[in-house]
Formats: sequence, C-alpha cells, structure tokens
Amino acid sequence: MPIDDPTTATPSEIDEELARLDIEHAEANDTLTALTARVQRLVNDGMAEYATELRPRIEQARQTIAECEAAARPLDAEFERRGGWTRAWLVLNTGGHVHRTTACRICFPSTRFAWLTQLSGHDEAEIVEQAGEAACTECYPSAPVDVRKRPSRIKTPEQLAREAEKAERAKAKAAKAITAPDGTPLRTKGYGQIETEFTARRSYADALAYARHLSRADIARHRDTIADYREDAQLILAALAAKHGRTEDDLRTELAPKVESRWKREYK
Ligand SMILES: [Zn+2]
Repeated sequence: MPIDDPTTATPSEIDEELARLDIEHAEANDTLTALTARVQRLVNDGMAEYATELRPRIEQARQTIAECEAAARPLDAEFERRGGWTRAWLVLNTGGHVHRTTACRICFPSTRFAWLTQLSGHDEAEIVEQAGEAACTECYPSAPVDVRKRPSRIKTPEQLAREAEKAERAKAKAAKAITAPDGTPLRTKGYGQIETEFTARRSYADALAYARHLSRADIARHRDTIADYREDAQLILAALAAKHGRTEDDLRTELAPKVESRWKREYK
C-alpha cells in the first residue's frame, strides 16, 4: 500500500512497499526488453510499420518504470535518513538460507530471494533465532551454535499472508457454525445434523411451530411426534445458548417472534 508519510512508517511497511515496487519494476523491465527486441526484429525484417503499433506499449512500460523509481526514492531516502535498519532475505530453493544482504558473498547474481519484509528493523538476534539452521554463516557469523541447530521457523511474506487468510476463513466459518454444547455435532430427529446457526434458528422456529400445529390438530394422536419436535427445539436452544454464553430463557424470548411467524406462514 502506498505510504503517505515515510517518516512515520515502520521499517516493515516501507520495505513491503519497496518489495512491491521492485516486482512491478522488474515486470515492466521484462516487458520493455521483450517489446524492444520485437521492434528490432520487425525493423530488421523490413516491417517497420508494424513496429509503430508497439510504441504505445513501450511508452507505457517506460512510464511504469519511471513511476516505480520515483515512488521508491523517498522510501530509500528514509532508510538512509534513519541510518538504515536490519533486513533479511530468504533464498528461494529447498534448504535456502537467510541472508542479511542479497550481496552476500556465497550467493550468485541469479539467486532468487524472497524479501522477508516482516523482519525489517528487527533485532539480528531475533532474526537468527527464527532462522535457526537456515541462518547464513557468512551473514551471521556470531549466531550461537545451539541456535544454529534448531529448525528454521522462517516464512515468506506470501506464506504469512496465505496463513492469515486461512485463519480468517476458519474464523468466519466458526462464526457461522453450530455444535451441541459439548462440541459434538448437533443432531436432531426432525432436521438431521445441523451445521450452521442459520439452519439452527430456522429449524428451532419450525419445530415449535409444527409441534403447535400438531397439538391443535390432534394432540392425543400426535403425542410422540410433538414430543420429538419439542425435544429438537430444546436441543437447538441449548446449543445456541452455549455458543453465545446466553441463557435459554433469553434466547427463547428472542426467538419467540420467529416461531410465531413460522406458524402463521406455514401451518395456520
Ligand atoms: Zn549470507
């Protein structure tokens, strides 16, 4: 996300934006290189008029490159102004190491890195602690031996984002879900296993409305069925009360209008 005021941004925020600009810059650069080569081929083949059509796209790529560079300038300046801060990169291959700089002696120009922007500005001891066996010995010569024996806990910003998304989805799902008060599936006679709170509320209203309907029709004849539906309603009520930490009386009052309207609509 673009940063309005670099002087108040955290190292992670600044580096995250710089990493994003880096990627956009690299992509525009690749586009520019590919288009320029195509233009050259067309000109060589005597089809210069087709090359003209590519000019706007070349211009667009150049502009993107210039914009990325302009956006990065104040962020780089802020890094300098603060006298720099710690940064860490993870080499993107199996067993890749964590480095304090992409200029590390043991890396190659072609090495692909993930910029661990979430660790920007963190204590080097903490970075090494998280990296464990993945800490580069060139970059972190003072890392304690016992720390180097531990497995790496390093994650890339992409992995962290995916995990956060997954947790968010699980939370949303849990918010909608319902179980019996002891956490086991909520099983009813008339509505089977109830998975969501939405279904629970609707089934509760239906069970009581239907029980009322049967009572009025012929209470003696339907005695067992009425008891089953009332039992279902009671199970659902207990589940809702447990989920929300509310009393059954409280929820019964809240749901009474739903029972009433269900009865009027479906059974009256
Ligand atoms: Zn290194």
